[in-house]
Formats: sequence, C-alpha cells, structure tokens
Amino acid sequence: MTTGAFDVPGQWLKGNLHLHTTASDGELEPQQAVDGYRERGYDFLAITDHDTVVDVDALDGGGMTLLPGIEIGAPKAELGQSIHVVGIGATEAPEQVEGEPPQAAIDRLAEASEVCFVAHPSWSSLTYADILPLQRIIGVEVFNTTCRRGIGRGTSEVQWDECLARGRRFLGLAVDDAHVHYDDLYGGWVMLRAEEPSPEAIYAALKAGHFYASSGPTIEHVAIDGEHVHIECSPCVEVFAVCPLPGRGWTNWQVGGGREVVTEVDFEMRTGTEPIRIVVIDEAGKRAWTNPFWLS
Ligand SMILES: [Zn+2]
Ligand SMILES: [Zn+2]
Repeated sequence: MTTGAFDVPGQWLKGNLHLHTTASDGELEPQQAVDGYRERGYDFLAITDHDTVVDVDALDGGGMTLLPGIEIGAPKAELGQSIHVVGIGATEAPEQVEGEPPQAAIDRLAEASEVCFVAHPSWSSLTYADILPLQRIIGVEVFNTTCRRGIGRGTSEVQWDECLARGRRFLGLAVDDAHVHYDDLYGGWVMLRAEEPSPEAIYAALKAGHFYASSGPTIEHVAIDGEHVHIECSPCVEVFAVCPLPGRGWTNWQVGGGREVVTEVDFEMRTGTEPIRIVVIDEAGKRAWTNPFWLS
C-alpha cells in the first residue's frame, strides 16, 4: 500500500509554515526572518501574520521559496478561546464577522488560500469536538514550537487522534509559529516530498499529505507490505506505530524501548486497525510524526 511521502518521486523539501513578523506581533522584520530560515537550509517558508498578508514577492528568498499566508482567529471554541486557523497561499485577508460560526470564517479563509489547517489545538484549549466538524482544512498542528517553549503545550496528538478515531482524515503538521520572544525559531518543520520547490508543487504536496512533521528526527523511509511495516530513520530510541482505533488502539512499544538506539525497524501490524501513524523519538526526546496511513 502507499505510504504517501515515502512512496512518491521527488525531493525532500524542509519548510516552516507558520511564522509571525513585525507585520503583526512577531519581533523580526520579514526580510530578517527570511534570511534566518534561508541560512538554516530551509527550502520554503510561509509568513503567516495575524489578520494580514505580507507581500512575499517584495522579499528576497535567496533561493528559498516564499509562500504568502495568514492566521485568523475564528470564534469560538467550547472553552472560550478562538480557533486559530492558518491559510497558506492567502492573497488577502478575509473579512471577519463577529459572532459568526467558525466554519463561516474558515470558508472565507479557504476561498482566499490554497491550504488551511488548525493551529495549536493544545495552546487554544480546543477539544476534539471543536475541530471534528470543521471542513476545508487539511489537518492540525501536531507540534508548535512557540507553544512548546512559551507554555509547555506544544503537542496536540490527543486532539488529532480523537478526530482520526472518529473518521476524519486529518494530517499532522509541525511548525514554529515563531514570534522570537520565546526562542521559538527552527524547532518544528515539515519535510515535504515534491518534484520541485515551486509554490504550486508545495501546495499540491500539502493537499496530498506528501509530508511528515518533525521536531528533530528524520524519517527516511516507511514501507508497508501487507501487514509488514519497515521504517528507516535517524538514530532514535523509541519507534511507535500508533493506531487510534479500535478502543485504545495499539502501539509497538518494544522497539528501541528507550534503551537501544535504532535506525531501522521492522514489525507486523495487527489486522483490522486503521489508520496507523508512525512516531519516532530520539535520545533528546525530539519527535517526528508521519501522517496517518489508511490501509483500506
Ligand atoms: Zn495562533
Ligand atoms: Zn501564530
């Protein structure tokens, strides 16, 4: 069966899809931020200021692909926060109407954008019920650097799994959401598989789920043949196959076990469980997350 990013031709491209600059509440000028990511070897970068679109055509990417974007706050989650949604490829800020349902705000964002996803569920105290009904999003941020550094709530695996278990085919993204005041640069990214680093190819790969998320490790390959799973990764001490269904799902906890460094893992899946997603964890506790694989 297909394993998405690990199964398609192309090259690996590293990118950050969530970043604030002085155009909203970030501390770096847009060009400063661009220069920093380019120097770190990123292949693409989206600027996603709050409620405003920075003209990336006026900036010098120096070979790094720049994507326009925006972050909006759609009203209103169960526990009182707004639902932050990032629109990549946004050409203009959509109108926002007070008191409207979240989907109405997301619909207008989606009209103006190429790809939308829900930002930092944990930081926003979103429950799965807030996210479950949302349409025109590709998924959720499974990791957000500024939320990790700022308040210790960087991961949103639980909300993601709760939606997967209820049948939503959501993808998982890692981003910085860098503002800089929390030392939040270069901590979360996506590795995306595309033929070329053009905006169009990047948007298509995002929509197709041809990427994985990371806060450190590299996942070089995942192959699924029948019930056999083969994973190649940078040195890690734990490798999990996480399945949110049925019930508590199952995990392949024995691989690495936190004691042994592994770079290659083979195991047999249990039948009747899907989707599965792979998580690898390195000695520093940094994680990488594949998108879910649906077997049927
Ligand atoms: Zn936000
Ligand atoms: Zn943000």
